[in-house]
Amino acid sequence: MPKQKKILSPTERSSKLRTQRISTPYLSVVVPVFNEEECIEEFFTRLTEVLESIGKTYEIIFINDGSCDRTEYLLGRFFEQYPRILRIIHFNNNYGQYTAILAGFEHVRGDVIVTLDADLQNPPEEIPSLLKMIDAGHDSVGSYRRERHDSFFRTKASRVINRLRKEITGLEMRDHGCMLRAYRRHIIDQAIKTRESSTFITVLAQKFAGNPIDIAVEHHDRARGESKYNLYKLIRITFDLITGVSLIPLQLFTLLGMCTSLLSVLLVVYMGFRRIFIGPEAEGVFTLFAILFFFLSVIIMGIGLIGEYVGRTYLSVCQHPRFVIREIIEMSQPKREE
Ligand code: UDP
Ligand code: MG
Repeated sequence: MPKQKKILSPTERSSKLRTQRISTPYLSVVVPVFNEEECIEEFFTRLTEVLESIGKTYEIIFINDGSCDRTEYLLGRFFEQYPRILRIIHFNNNYGQYTAILAGFEHVRGDVIVTLDADLQNPPEEIPSLLKMIDAGHDSVGSYRRERHDSFFRTKASRVINRLRKEITGLEMRDHGCMLRAYRRHIIDQAIKTRESSTFITVLAQKFAGNPIDIAVEHHDRARGESKYNLYKLIRITFDLITGVSLIPLQLFTLLGMCTSLLSVLLVVYMGFRRIFIGPEAEGVFTLFAILFFFLSVIIMGIGLIGEYVGRTYLSVCQHPRFVIREIIEMSQPKREE
């Protein structure tokens, strides 16, 4: 007869979660949160239910990425109830999802690390499928959204950027934006050791994977609230991805510069001959303006691109901290960092 799962009452559940040992758990779940007061309670309940059903020791690390709603208060309440399985890192400001995950990586204790978002677009119920692949010997288990529930613009743009990233880095991953992922610890240790300028975690970690695999996962509409990415943040993160992993964009730009220089030489030669054989060109001034403006915009774009790389170099030369932790709340070794 199949073994029936015992349904625990809330009090039993609470005391079971409280008595779990945390020192070296099997699993560390890393969750970045930014103004998620509407989702976080349902997320926490569903996540702990799934993790309990797996039957292995675990810890959940929430990184509060400078939330200014009730997220901090709610995380504090979870901690009061379940201090043994929870660790909470509070940033002093909003540094972005990937930086938050990186901070979580610096504090994990588990052998296996899982990352996911708090808005329930990635269902926590998929975690066992990722762990199955880890047990099968894969050191990095990525996922791709079977049927993506995001706006048409985001879905299409993400497809183009995934292709571009594949061309630039040569890394085989179907959907680098899907955060539901599992890693063996050695990959995370490598990822935090490198002082890479890119914080694009999924791509960074993929570089260190020896035996990666991608699996299809469910994707839902955001449970509640709105996406924390506006157009500006999306553009920033795309630049971070493209310029953080390779110099190819800069090299391509040089090639483009060479092509446009060649074309402009041809244009000058043509204009010279025209002047000699047909006479000076009185009209067509605006055509020349159009060509000039085109070159000008290409140059401005190039300067912007170079600026991105110079900015990265500047930040790493200054050893600018990637984030500042205001407080870490955990049971064993509470500490404060200013
Ligand atoms: N997030 C974060 N900092 C940010 C933006 C987002 O920690 O600056 C978190 C957010 O709380 C969520 C996850 O990152 O847990 C994914 O964010 P969101 O669902 O808004 O992104 P989308 O699904 O629209 O890409
Ligand atoms: Mg989301």
